[in-house]
Amino acid sequence: MTVSPHTPFTATVLGLPRVGPNRELKRATESYWAGRIDAERLHGIARDLRRAQFAELLAAGMDSVPVGTFSYYDQVLDTAVLLGALPPRVAGITDPLDRYFAAARGTDTVEPLEMTKWFDTNYHYLVPEITAETTFALHPEQLLEQVDEALALGVPARPVVIGPVTFLKSAKDASGAPLRRLPELVPLYRDLLSRLAAKGVAWIQIDEPVLVTDLTESEIDAVREVYTDLSAATERPALLVATYFGRPGAALPALAGTAIDGIALDISDADDLSEVAGVPALARKLLVAGVVDGRNVWRADLDRALAALGTLLGCAAALAVSTSCSLLHVPYTLDAEKELDAELRSWLAFGSEKVHEVRLLATALAAGPDAIADELAAVRAAATARRTDPRLSDRRVRARLSALDADAVRRAPADERRVLQSERLRLPALPTTTIGSYPQTSAIRLARAASRKGEIDEAEYLRRMRAEIAEVIALQERLGLDVLVHGEPERNDMVQYFAEQLDGFAATEAGWVQSYGTRCVRPPILYGDVARRAPMTVDWIGYAQSLTDKPVKGMLTGPVTILAWSFVRDDQPLSDSADQVALAIRDETVDLQSAGIGIIQVDEPALRELLPLRTADQPAYLAWSVRAFRLATSGVSDTTQIHTHLCYSKFGEVIDAIAGLDADVTSIEAARSHMEVLDDLNAAGFALGVGPGVYDIHSPRVPSTEEITASLRAALKAVPAERLWVNPDCGLKTRGPVEVEQSLRNMVAAADAVR
Ligand code: GLN
Ligand code: ZN
Repeated sequence: MTVSPHTPFTATVLGLPRVGPNRELKRATESYWAGRIDAERLHGIARDLRRAQFAELLAAGMDSVPVGTFSYYDQVLDTAVLLGALPPRVAGITDPLDRYFAAARGTDTVEPLEMTKWFDTNYHYLVPEITAETTFALHPEQLLEQVDEALALGVPARPVVIGPVTFLKSAKDASGAPLRRLPELVPLYRDLLSRLAAKGVAWIQIDEPVLVTDLTESEIDAVREVYTDLSAATERPALLVATYFGRPGAALPALAGTAIDGIALDISDADDLSEVAGVPALARKLLVAGVVDGRNVWRADLDRALAALGTLLGCAAALAVSTSCSLLHVPYTLDAEKELDAELRSWLAFGSEKVHEVRLLATALAAGPDAIADELAAVRAAATARRTDPRLSDRRVRARLSALDADAVRRAPADERRVLQSERLRLPALPTTTIGSYPQTSAIRLARAASRKGEIDEAEYLRRMRAEIAEVIALQERLGLDVLVHGEPERNDMVQYFAEQLDGFAATEAGWVQSYGTRCVRPPILYGDVARRAPMTVDWIGYAQSLTDKPVKGMLTGPVTILAWSFVRDDQPLSDSADQVALAIRDETVDLQSAGIGIIQVDEPALRELLPLRTADQPAYLAWSVRAFRLATSGVSDTTQIHTHLCYSKFGEVIDAIAGLDADVTSIEAARSHMEVLDDLNAAGFALGVGPGVYDIHSPRVPSTEEITASLRAALKAVPAERLWVNPDCGLKTRGPVEVEQSLRNMVAAADAVR
């Protein structure tokens, strides 16, 4: 069959998840790493997973199928391989698969690439390193194999690659001008286009999500040049450029002005389409309308989507229905959820259900809405039931929130609090502490699994967790730490643990989403008003405090982080949800205080993550997120010391917000950035307690006393001793007990030496 390259398609998704509906790829990959299976077996499992996905998409009526969004670890790393941009330090590893995994996870002798968040999602990608030594070269073998495999199965394959602009802007490039390397990359993409054309591929999708961020005029010019150049190639499939996670704004007319054949737009927020309607050049292109939200779990409002499609129909030469982004960010299918209550389930759509929604909309587009009349009626009924469900509106919570005044987010001035707290706590100079979790030992995981399966009863589970707490307290006393923690043995996850105990959240059984590599998470679903049923942590922390005369620091997760790591409501502003969660956390802090706890840490590691991609949207976000934190932490008396923990080293845009949190003590990741963060904090006028992490917990290496002493001395150059705390970079749950004990011993010795 010969396909004319410009035959438009009508229904697709922008990308696919790959860990497997039951995390098959995760298990296979880990088995490969452990040497239990060989590469052949791993490839076989991967192939079966892809094949099942292709079959599902074809059966669901997709007439164009993304190929190449499969990955053994990460799609950005795959692109680095495709473009010959792996760092030289892995070049010595001859086996391509092992070289790939070495770049992803490191080996005994090789440092892995850094990891960071993919735009404003919870997915972490590996950051390519581009240096003057990087010589790009096309290595398309893996992509071409997948294309062959799909074509052989009769799949209308649409290869997907990350575009050169997004690739370079997502990389680490010491020159500070990453797009200068575009002229080296464009010929490689042209080469790829001609190879795909030779295979008879009809369309290629080039992902450029970076177009939805703020770009300078010269960057937009660069985009125009790249796509003018690529579309001028004579041997090529039809070219679809995909943007997602927002709207491309000024980049849209630039892109549409080139001779590419199609543009994918994120239409999940369909409120204002004027910006799209105002681009006449779209009239010559296929518009792939991402009207089905690819990254949240709510069932699509089909009426609204159809209205948007109706508007867009007049703007483009042809229209295809799609998801707003890859389905990488949502679970595979609702079918796996047996326990979810029927009502809630009828409001949701996971991956397979979203594919079905795309199909329905494409059908309605082709044959009119009557063709899907039954489905439209069902969706409307579910939406009405959802709107009127009593769980969506808790009158008490709403009354409390509307009664709040400015005092609810205000404490006494920080220096007054400092005096009161130091009288109460009587801590030594340079107090030592940890960030909360201690190693999650196999005993802990076994106990949790046994309790979930009903093999041990509640009392036995409690007994085992208390034994863990007692051990961690004894260890900390032995080590001579000043502020102790209970170690968080009872927490499967710092968000899920709270979500399970709050009204308004639902948990899934198999709603796994890839976080990075083989690590998957099951984000809770926030569907209703949030209320705390009962104290959530007081028994555990109170028990820990009963075992020691040293202060035990209560440990809570902050409202922003709870939202960032959940699927959130789409029927009210995120700021309203944040305030509701904040109230629940506030009640918990007050209960901890009543139980005699004098120090409470409210973790906000995700504060930076939710930061909007567009600068113009950032101030409003920072205002409500800081307010929510303060609402959560201002209910206690001034003698109670509030800590927070943030774990990213590049503070940039959020530095002022950190001061705005007004926490008495802030612990932050700093070891890898060599304490530079302290200068940034000083420059922002930060004058509260600070605990810059004195060693990196991401590696099993035990830091020496001398090394930590040097770190502390460096910190003292920037922060006066009265404000300086001594702690590791982050929680210790991923570390082994032996390294933890040695590292903390050295940390305490270093604090002693510096005192
Ligand atoms: N208290 C948490 C812990 O120690 C904080 C984790 C985090 O910052 N992500 O595990
Ligand atoms: Zn952390």
